[in-house]
Amino acid sequence: MAETVHENGRGLKVGIVGGSIAGCMTAIELVRLGCDVTLFERTGEELKDRGAGIGVPSSVIDTFIKRDLVDADIPYFSGHSFMRIWRTDQHQPYGYLAWDQPSNLALLNWGGLYRNLRKRVPNHVYRTGHRVTALQEQTNGRVEVTLSDGSRQEFDLVVCADGYASLGRRTLFPDVAIRYAGYVLWRGFLMEHEMSESQPLESGVRCLGYPGGHGIFYFVPGPGDSIAFGKRLINWGMYVPVPEPELAAFLTDKEGNVREGSLSPGSMPLATERALKQKAHERIPGYYAEVVEKSPDTFAYAIYDCEVPAYRKGRICLVGDAGAFARPHSAAGALKGINDATALSEALKAHSSVDEALAQWSAVQTETDNNLVRFGNQLGRALVREIPDWSKMDATSMEKWFTSIVTIQSEFFGSKEQKS
Ligand SMILES: Cc1cc2nc3c(=O)[nH]c(=O)nc-3n(C[C@H](O)[C@H](O)[C@H](O)COP(=O)(O)OP(=O)(O)OC[C@H]3O[C@@H](n4cnc5c(N)ncnc54)[C@H](O)[C@@H]3O)c2cc1C
Repeated sequence: MAETVHENGRGLKVGIVGGSIAGCMTAIELVRLGCDVTLFERTGEELKDRGAGIGVPSSVIDTFIKRDLVDADIPYFSGHSFMRIWRTDQHQPYGYLAWDQPSNLALLNWGGLYRNLRKRVPNHVYRTGHRVTALQEQTNGRVEVTLSDGSRQEFDLVVCADGYASLGRRTLFPDVAIRYAGYVLWRGFLMEHEMSESQPLESGVRCLGYPGGHGIFYFVPGPGDSIAFGKRLINWGMYVPVPEPELAAFLTDKEGNVREGSLSPGSMPLATERALKQKAHERIPGYYAEVVEKSPDTFAYAIYDCEVPAYRKGRICLVGDAGAFARPHSAAGALKGINDATALSEALKAHSSVDEALAQWSAVQTETDNNLVRFGNQLGRALVREIPDWSKMDATSMEKWFTSIVTIQSEFFGSKEQKS
């Protein structure tokens, strides 16, 4: 079938599945390119207030601003330091600082980033309450999208930005499975003023190691995007091993239902939360255990990863977590979605043939993003599965140990600036 010419993407009718970070990014970029875009988001309400903290390499913020993806004054904190700390009896309540590892992170409120992107997507493009149930390539080369109400629409191109359990990925590659990493990320946040002192959390990220995992603690802008002293949000997460046979029990909510992949804020049974908080008291320095203890409505999600053989088949593409899916240690979630989307629009701009653009884009994203998955695996090995006792180490031995395991030189994270 001869390809209809859509010079530099102009006039291309595009359907996007999913309206979170990667979906919004794709919509902004492709609307600006002159495509006729419709975005389907299954959630009935906007997603803006459901997130917590998110880290991206600092240099990325400048790129976002130059591309007018976020406001020039978007609030964030800079994390130039990754303090690797271990609990010891002698160093209570703040812990023993084994290594002050240089880093270069921008620490954002997830909702703040989402709102910046969402307001750049025209309202007529973004359709809430629209769940996509099937994608079907047509003999005319176009793609048919079926919605949960049974209605169907045809597009020249469908971009799936539907997250880690992506329908798009399952449709294109039914044999590709997401792999459970053997641990969950337990998360929470607390208003700064709930703690009698906040100095121990100033500037950078605290990374607290313990046998079987580590926790990360850092400030992100608080409600109303406030960065004022006292109004910041303490964002934290702790990696907790949960063997696969016990995962269903762990993900059982207050009502006794087994959730798929995560326990959202408010759904965790009291007994699960108490047991986790007790473990925190045993594993991390007292100051940080107090942050955890005071945090309301903590939540958790299972950690998976997944490499993909390609980012497109025909006219169906994957972006963000719908494509290769890396563990959160790599601080790559938001960044990867944003890069996939900007690279897609650049490829369409550079080629008069849509199919050539997609082929070239897919080859690059597949290699780059699968590499990020491997990078996340290496960090998972170093910081969770095989974490050594940092209380017996100093900066020199820590750096040597870290670089012996984390060997991938990521395009996004320099070897001296690894994130966790
Ligand atoms: C509400 C929310 C809060 C988050 N908070 C944080 C956070 O605090 N920190 C952090 O590091 N990461 C957070 N994340 C994850 C983070 O956004 C992603 O890992 C990363 O940015 C990549 O995003 P994504 O757009 O590829 O996927 P996701 O953010 O997972 O978004 C996928 C979107 O697709 C929609 N969707 C899925 N299936 C369908 C379907 N069949 N039809 C229509 N729509 C569909 C989902 O509702 C969702 O909005 C959050 C994600 C969400 C959805």
